[in-house]
Amino acid sequence: MTDGQDLAVDGGPAVRTGPPLPSAMSADGRRIGAEEEAAVLRVLRSGMLSGVWGPEVPALAREFAEQVGSGHAVACSSGTAALHLAVAAVDPEPGDEIIVPPISDIGSVAPVLAQNAVPVFADVDPVTGCLDPDRVAELVSPRTRAIVVVHLFGKAADVTRLRALADANGVMLIEDCAQAYLTPVSAGSALAGTAGHLGCFSLQQHKHVTAGDGGLVVTDDAGLAERMRRFADKGWPRETGERAYLHFALNYRMTELVAAVAREQLRKLPDVVTARRRHAARLTAQLADLPGATLPADAGDHSYWYYPLLIDGLDEPGLQRYAAALTSEGVPAVPGYLRRPLYAEPVLREPRTYGMSGYPLRGSTEYSDGLCPVAESLVYRRLVVLPCNENFTDADVDDVAAAVRKVHTRLATGGAA
Ligand SMILES: *Cc1c(COP(=O)(O)O)cnc(C)c1O
Repeated sequence: MTDGQDLAVDGGPAVRTGPPLPSAMSADGRRIGAEEEAAVLRVLRSGMLSGVWGPEVPALAREFAEQVGSGHAVACSSGTAALHLAVAAVDPEPGDEIIVPPISDIGSVAPVLAQNAVPVFADVDPVTGCLDPDRVAELVSPRTRAIVVVHLFGKAADVTRLRALADANGVMLIEDCAQAYLTPVSAGSALAGTAGHLGCFSLQQHKHVTAGDGGLVVTDDAGLAERMRRFADKGWPRETGERAYLHFALNYRMTELVAAVAREQLRKLPDVVTARRRHAARLTAQLADLPGATLPADAGDHSYWYYPLLIDGLDEPGLQRYAAALTSEGVPAVPGYLRRPLYAEPVLREPRTYGMSGYPLRGSTEYSDGLCPVAESLVYRRLVVLPCNENFTDADVDDVAAAVRKVHTRLATGGAA
């Protein structure tokens, strides 16, 4: 085995000697085949490539609403666009507040700025990295209009409590489900995306299924759905047949080619999620005895976009070294998921959203270090993100487990041999 051997990062033999692990960035880690090829040809041969008049985009919206268990779905050009549609549907007044998580893609936050609202960051749960409802409750103010919650890495956030909190305060709950396709919000229950007022999904290359780029929003509220359809289409009320622009809106339309591919990908989604759960369970079984490591919390409410591993006792360089060592063993690993919590990014620290005005943010000290200490400990010192792909073989999973065990035994102070 690997006992006694040097880490690959120090010149020893790597755990994985075969080809790179399947990943979302190559054909061997995707399920794109004859079905998608036929779908693209079907659209091309029809001569109609626009989702405004073609059949694919409306069919995708119907099928996705049904798959998620929601009344309506609106298709758009990206996950970020989906979140922009949702925030625009909330329709905040300038300076209103929207509570957001510090660990996410910037697509969870940029739409808040675009609609002239103030992102207010709430700290996260120390195991899941998802919004902590207690921290959110402390931040709800008379200016709060919405809460954006991310189901991080595919693990359900506590949306039951967040929805109750939202309803008690008359604000909307927006679920960012870009990493959480087919995630039950608790074992056996309704899916993520249906617990809030609005649920946003992404079809970007790295997600469970992809059309390159693309987005979807689900809601049970017909009025919100109509408003979002118009926000993706320049404010144009297509259903009336007249050329009118009813309110400020952009062009976030999805094309027929994207929708046709997305329809085929979504048919494959149940198998994709089932395979990822099986691989994650195998990995968890093999790592269960690792001292000083916390494996993903899974109560049947995880769809494993990635496999987040928490390590005790590392400092910032230690976490970087741990992830670099895994990558050298042949298991690409990302320390912290993000380089820093979102509030430490230049887009919020040196805001240039509207010229030099700083608007809509309220001052340079609002987003200082220490704002969300739990998020900072995860990003800087505890979280290592491991790959999880539907096309892994059992041997691939065993390689991931062996690499983690080898690196952990040598580098985790909490697990020193
Ligand atoms: C990917 C992602 C987004 C943004 O989606 P795009 O399609 O890349 O714009 C937003 N939120 C989360 C949590 C994501 O993972």
